[in-house]
Amino acid sequence: MELEVKKTTAWEAFYDNLELNQLANNYLDFLSQNKTERETISWIKNVLEKHGFEQDFSQDKVFKTLHNKTIFIAKRGKKPLTSGTRLICAHVDSPRLDLKQHPLYEECEVVLAKTHYYGGIKKYQWLARPLALHGVIIKTNGKKINFVLGENQDDPVFTISDLLPHLAHKQIEKKVKDAFEAEKLNIILGHIPLKNKDNNKKQEKRIKKHLLHLLFERFAIGEEDLYSAEIQAVPAGKARFVGLDKGLIGGYGQDDRACVFLSLNAFLKSDTPNYTQILIFWDKEEIGSDGSTGAKSFFLQYCLEELLDAWKEKGKISQVFLNMKAISADVHAPIEADYQDAHEKLNASRLGYGPVFCKFTGHKGKYGANDAHAEYIAWLRNILNRKQIPWQMAELGKVDLGGGGTVAKFLASYGGDVIDCGPGLLSMHSPFEISSTVDLYTTYLAYKAFFEEST
Ligand code: MN
Ligand code: MN
Repeated sequence: MELEVKKTTAWEAFYDNLELNQLANNYLDFLSQNKTERETISWIKNVLEKHGFEQDFSQDKVFKTLHNKTIFIAKRGKKPLTSGTRLICAHVDSPRLDLKQHPLYEECEVVLAKTHYYGGIKKYQWLARPLALHGVIIKTNGKKINFVLGENQDDPVFTISDLLPHLAHKQIEKKVKDAFEAEKLNIILGHIPLKNKDNNKKQEKRIKKHLLHLLFERFAIGEEDLYSAEIQAVPAGKARFVGLDKGLIGGYGQDDRACVFLSLNAFLKSDTPNYTQILIFWDKEEIGSDGSTGAKSFFLQYCLEELLDAWKEKGKISQVFLNMKAISADVHAPIEADYQDAHEKLNASRLGYGPVFCKFTGHKGKYGANDAHAEYIAWLRNILNRKQIPWQMAELGKVDLGGGGTVAKFLASYGGDVIDCGPGLLSMHSPFEISSTVDLYTTYLAYKAFFEEST
């Protein structure tokens, strides 16, 4: 038995690992393709169907979606549901700018779209950069128009303009929270006025009119159709390797689609289990987990009740929950070079040291925390150490400096065991979040080991 904890980089064990490189490349494609919760859920659905999963709950490999924004997936184990399950949950939503329902207006020779930001963003990070629009528009006849603008090389992009430094002398004196206003996060969509065929000088707002014409030509929609639309502005462009050694991945939406991707891969690759394996990917985590597709909804409960019934199992849903072992798969904030003083170094996580277990979340005196039980952590330690998978135990930043929560506390309210575990991310919630490829790979290994554990 080691008397002292030795912390080493996970790279020691995973230089030139082919599986790691393959996973990183697949992850880049996944991140580049899926930038909204709807896109992610529909991508997952495709993958599941290719792997023989069905919506008929009497089968052994099943899934169910709700409102195209959340998904429940299960693989039947040898033992009944009430004897225990292995569940991983993660969230498919990421911070972004949502178009308002009345978005369009013309001002100072451009047509713009008003936005309402979604989740915890630093507003200045969204200015003066290429943005893409991803969305759905539902017509009154129920027809759904899915679209993505600004991702292909020959597509135009959109952007929010920022004040030139020459005229920003007042702005730079302000506090950051006052210097960048939410009502100024308006996206430029066009500039050319509609041709004035009738020479009618009185015709106003011709740039907006031109945009409406273009939208009609492309999607056959009118302005009122934007009432029943969900359009998100997200950073345009693909995820990329970062650094000459390609050890890092930069891209939008890694919180928490990194965990979605890794847990789904682990789930699909893990053996036929003793215990039923469950994945649930929720929406709305970034805004408090409310709503019909968030972790506070009853969707998980409904699915498990239906599963008990369809698999003709006896026992109560309460037993399923009480005997459940779960991982809340979400990203962590490792210590970073320029902001080391935000962390308490002894308990900070490190990039490249493997998946981060976070016993509790919350803020200021653990307020609002799930606090995983010591017994459960011991069980998890045993699994990872036995399989020689690197992992770390950490806390999110210095006490009283801030804090954060995940869906762990909502899942914990059902009574089973749950802990947060996921890879570290630099620049979390920014348009270009950074992960370490060895953390991604070892997190995948950890999730797989958890799913396959039969003790
Ligand atoms: Mn998250
Ligand atoms: Mn987040």
